Amino acid sequence: MNPLRSTILAASRSRHVRHGVESFGTTRRVVDRFVAGEGTDDALECVHRLTSEGLLVTVDHLGEEVTDAAGADATVEAYTSLLSALHEKDLGRGADVSVKLSALGLEADPCGARERAGRILTAARAVDATMTIDMEHSARTSTTLEVVRSLRDDDPSVAAVIQAMLRRTEDDARQLASEGARVRLCKGAYAEAADVAYQRRGDVDESYRRCLKILMHGSGTPLVASHDPAMLTAALELAAAEGRGPDSYELQLLLGVRPDEQRRLHSLGLAVRVYVPFGTEWWGYLMRRLAERPQNLAFFARALASRR
Ligand SMILES: Cc1cc2nc3c(=O)[nH]c(=O)nc-3n(C[C@H](O)[C@H](O)[C@H](O)COP(=O)(O)OP(=O)(O)OC[C@H]3O[C@@H](n4cnc5c(N)ncnc54)[C@H](O)[C@@H]3O)c2cc1C
Repeated sequence: MNPLRSTILAASRSRHVRHGVESFGTTRRVVDRFVAGEGTDDALECVHRLTSEGLLVTVDHLGEEVTDAAGADATVEAYTSLLSALHEKDLGRGADVSVKLSALGLEADPCGARERAGRILTAARAVDATMTIDMEHSARTSTTLEVVRSLRDDDPSVAAVIQAMLRRTEDDARQLASEGARVRLCKGAYAEAADVAYQRRGDVDESYRRCLKILMHGSGTPLVASHDPAMLTAALELAAAEGRGPDSYELQLLLGVRPDEQRRLHSLGLAVRVYVPFGTEWWGYLMRRLAERPQNLAFFARALASRR
């Protein structure tokens, strides 16, 4: 892995580095581009802005690695409050929530995490919203997919996420495609060892293309999560080759990343969903975005330099 990427990913786990940034008092300015804000109202405002432009949303309440029951219950409460607030503003129908099982206490209590995910799913269904279970590092892939399958027994629209960087993913794609699942395909945002993951960018991209082909050919709904022009072009070509209409797959991009491209794709009549993160636990998320594109560091450095 690129040494700069490893360093930034290491910083994502450092409380000291986070504290240093916060103490500059620039929190809001630094995160503004990639995070909707810290509170539910910020998320609502962002969802309103995007949906009025015709974009779809999936909202992520930031937070991961929760190990106590109270913290995991607080995650459920954050999502259920968000969903009812979306409903009150008439923004619930068609919205999606992206949930990390580690924020529901997966590590300490997998059964509890499944039960809590079920509570969020019930709240989502009540307002005609859907749910996606985000994918975390590779040690959690199998458990996460098991939980997704169990949730899909309750509601087949629950979406799984698979990461092209992992060597196992082509098999997972095949399996999920045959189950007719909604599947978000991303490259993968975590540092992984060579025995489980492709290390070269070109190999990850080739894996992405192979998985995309499997998903587009299958009976499910591919959710193409990438900002990479080559992957987006491949998705459109494969969809056309498979005779898929725009309502049978989605393109998904992160808030603040290639916003002009998001609008351009939407203007072509394609379904474009924007991943909208919000909450106080923005640090790890922000660092992963910086690690993906070190050019973003310039933006980060400028924000720090102009601290008030
Ligand atoms: C909606 C969504 C959900 C995701 N969910 C998960 C998840 O659950 N688990 C997980 O591990 N990862 C997730 N990710 C992150 C993902 O795994 C990648 O880390 C991330 O998307 C970067 O990969 P990429 O495909 O965008 O292309 P990259 O390989 O990062 O970039 C390829 C090319 O895309 C273009 N590009 C990328 N970023 C920018 C930018 N900021 N500005 C301009 N051009 C740019 C450039 O041309 C670049 O060369 C998600 C990503 C998205 C979009």
